[in-house]
Amino acid sequence: MDNRWSDQDAEAAIERWTKQGAGMDLALRTYTTRLLGSEPKLVIHGGGNTSVKTTVRDRFGDPIEVICVKGSGWDMAAIEPPGLPAVRLEPLRRLVDLDTLSDEDMVREQRANLIDPASPNPSVETLLHAFLPHTFIDHTHANAVLALTDQPHGELLCRQIWGDTMTLVPYVMHGFALAKAALAAYRERPDVQGMILLKHGVFTFGDTARQAYDRMIGVVTAAEARIADARRVSVAGVHLPKGLGRHRPKSFHPAKLPMRIAPVAAVAPILRGLTALPEGAGGHRRFILDFRSGPEIEDFVGGQDLARYARQGTATPDHVIRIKPKPLIVPAPDADDLEGFATAAEQAFIDYHADYTAYFSRHEARYEGRKTMLDPAPRVILVPGLGLFGIGASKAEARIAADLAETNIDVIAAAETMDTYEVIPESDIFDIEHWSLEQAKLGKAVERPLARRIAVITGGGSGIGAATAAAFHAEGAEVAVLDLDTHAAAAVAKPLGALSIGCDVTDQKAVEHAFDRVAEVYGGVDIVVSNAGGAFSGRIGEVDEAVLRDSFDLNFWAHQSVARAAVRIFRAQATGGWLLFNASKQPLDPGPDFGPYGIAKAATLALMRQYAVDYGRDSVRSCAVNADRIRSGLLNDKLVAQRARARGISEEEYLAGNLLRAEVTAADVAQAFVHLALSAKTTGAVLTVDGGNIAAAPR
Ligand code: ZN
Repeated sequence: MDNRWSDQDAEAAIERWTKQGAGMDLALRTYTTRLLGSEPKLVIHGGGNTSVKTTVRDRFGDPIEVICVKGSGWDMAAIEPPGLPAVRLEPLRRLVDLDTLSDEDMVREQRANLIDPASPNPSVETLLHAFLPHTFIDHTHANAVLALTDQPHGELLCRQIWGDTMTLVPYVMHGFALAKAALAAYRERPDVQGMILLKHGVFTFGDTARQAYDRMIGVVTAAEARIADARRVSVAGVHLPKGLGRHRPKSFHPAKLPMRIAPVAAVAPILRGLTALPEGAGGHRRFILDFRSGPEIEDFVGGQDLARYARQGTATPDHVIRIKPKPLIVPAPDADDLEGFATAAEQAFIDYHADYTAYFSRHEARYEGRKTMLDPAPRVILVPGLGLFGIGASKAEARIAADLAETNIDVIAAAETMDTYEVIPESDIFDIEHWSLEQAKLGKAVERPLARRIAVITGGGSGIGAATAAAFHAEGAEVAVLDLDTHAAAAVAKPLGALSIGCDVTDQKAVEHAFDRVAEVYGGVDIVVSNAGGAFSGRIGEVDEAVLRDSFDLNFWAHQSVARAAVRIFRAQATGGWLLFNASKQPLDPGPDFGPYGIAKAATLALMRQYAVDYGRDSVRSCAVNADRIRSGLLNDKLVAQRARARGISEEEYLAGNLLRAEVTAADVAQAFVHLALSAKTTGAVLTVDGGNIAAAPR
C-alpha cells in the first residue's frame, strides 16, 4: 500500500483550511482523512472514520476540549472540516462509567454535546475514539486486514504478523459495548500502535496526523505482504520462486460452464424482472442494476465452490446494511437456452426469498417482535460465466452495491488463497442488518414518483426530447438520451448524470444496439418516449415519392423499430412497460401541403393503438401525445416567422393562437409524457397538449 503523505500537500491543506477558520490539527486531520478515504482498498462507502482531540474556544473565548470526529453522510475522500464535527470530550468520557447505553441514548449524548447543533451525527464509533487517549485515531476496513482476520486462524495470523505492536479485540458489534471492549484491550497494552478489530477492521493511533496515517499504511502493507506470500504458493501447493508469483494463480477451481454464455444485454432484463417485487394493484417495486466483470470477478463467480465461499457473510459487518448477508447465485446463462436460464433463475429467486424469510424468523424471536423484516430482494447477483450485478433503488445505489461486492470478492479471494473465508456468526450479522438505528429509518424515505424506472427518450438531444429527458430525471427516473447527434445527446445527458447514445433511429440494427446498451447499463427499460421525428412537406399529389418514403422511414418505421426493441425488453422483464409516442396534431387535423409528414404520423398513431391492443396482455401501456406549435419542437425559428408573417400576426400571437391563448412549450409536452408514464390504467390514449385546438381534438 502506497504511503501518499506529501509535506507539500499537508502544508497546502493547512493553508487552505486554517484560512476557513479550522485549527491546524483539524486541517491535518481533514488532509489524512482524505488520503485514507480516496483509497478503496482502505475505505469504501462509509466504511471508516477518523478523529482528532483538540481545543476550540467557546463564545467567551474560554478553551473547550473537544473531539472532532467524522460525521455521518460525509465521504472521507472529499471531506471538509465541517464533516468532522466537534463534540465536547469530557461528557463523552464520563459515559465510560455506565454499564450499558442504548444506541439511541448514545446518539442523543453525542448530539447533545455537539459544539454546533447543526452538525451531522458524529460516527457510531465516536465513543471508541473518545475513550482512547490518543490525539489522532484512524479507522479503516482495509481489505488486506479483513482477509487475514476473516479466516478460522485469523487471530493467530495477526499475532504472527504484528506481535506486540497491535492489540487484538474480539468481535463486538459497534456502539457502546465495543468502545468499552476496545478501551479494556488498550489498557492491557498501552504501548501499542493500534488495534485489530477481528472480523471488522483496524485502528491506528498517533500523536500527529502523519504518525497515525503512517502506521495505518504500515499495518496494511504488512497484511498485503503476508497475502502476497501465500499467493506465491500455487493451487497445487507448489512453492514458486520469488518473482514468479506476479501472475496471480487462480484462487478458485473453475466450475464447468456452458460453451456459449448469453450476453449481459439478454441476461440483465430477465434478472431485473425477477428482482422486482410485487406491489399493490398489480404494480411492481423495481430495482436498477449495475453490471461488473473482469478477471477477478469471473474467476470468483466461476468457482466450483461458489455457493460455499460466497454465502458466508460480508467481509466486514456494516456491508450487510447495503448488500444483505448473502448474494443471490443464479446458474450460468447458456446462450443456446435462455428460456431454461430464465426458469432456473426464477427458482433461484424463489429460494432466495424463502431463505431470507427463514433467516429472519430464526433470529427475530430474540427481539420479541420488535424487528421489521426488510424486503427480501437480493442486492448482489452472481452470474457464473458472466460477472456480477449490484442492485439498488437507483443507479447510484446499485453502483454502491457493486462496489461492495467487488470489495468482498477481493477479501474472500485472498482469504481462500490462504485458508477458508470465515466471518462472524449469522446471529451477529442479523443484529447489524436489523440494527435499531437502521430500523428507525424504515418507511421514512420518500421516493420521487418515477424512481426505480428506466426511461429511454429518442430525439433527446434537443427540443421536446431534451425537455422530456430533464422532466423524467426530475421525477426520479434513470434516463437514457438517444439522438442522431451524439454530441447533443451527451450535452443533455451529462448534467442529468444520464446515459447518452448516438443513434440513427431509422437504422433498425442501431436501435437494437442502443436498447441493448441501455439494458447493459441500467438492467432494462420501463418507459420509452419515441419522440424523434422530422418535418417533410409537399402537395401530396405532386410530391417526390422519395420525400414520402424518407418521412415514413423517420416518422413511422423508426417508431416501429423503437417500440419493437422496447417490447423485447419489456417481455424479458415481465413487469409491463410504457410506450409513449410523439404523434403531433397532423394525424387528427392535417395541414395543407404537410401530407408526407402527417400521413406517416397517422400511421404512427395507428401503430400506437395496435401496440395497445397486442401488448395490453403484457401490461404494456401504449399512448401518444398530440402536441402543436412548439417553437423548439417541429417548428424552428424560421418556420415560426414565416407562418406568423403569412397570417399577418406577430410570432407571439401565432404561437399562442389557441383556445387558451397561451404558448405551449417543450416543457409542457414533457409534463404530458410524465403524466402518461404515471398512469398505470391508461392505454391507447391520445393526450393533447396544444392550448386548445378543437379541430385536433380526438373524436
Ligand atoms: Zn468500523
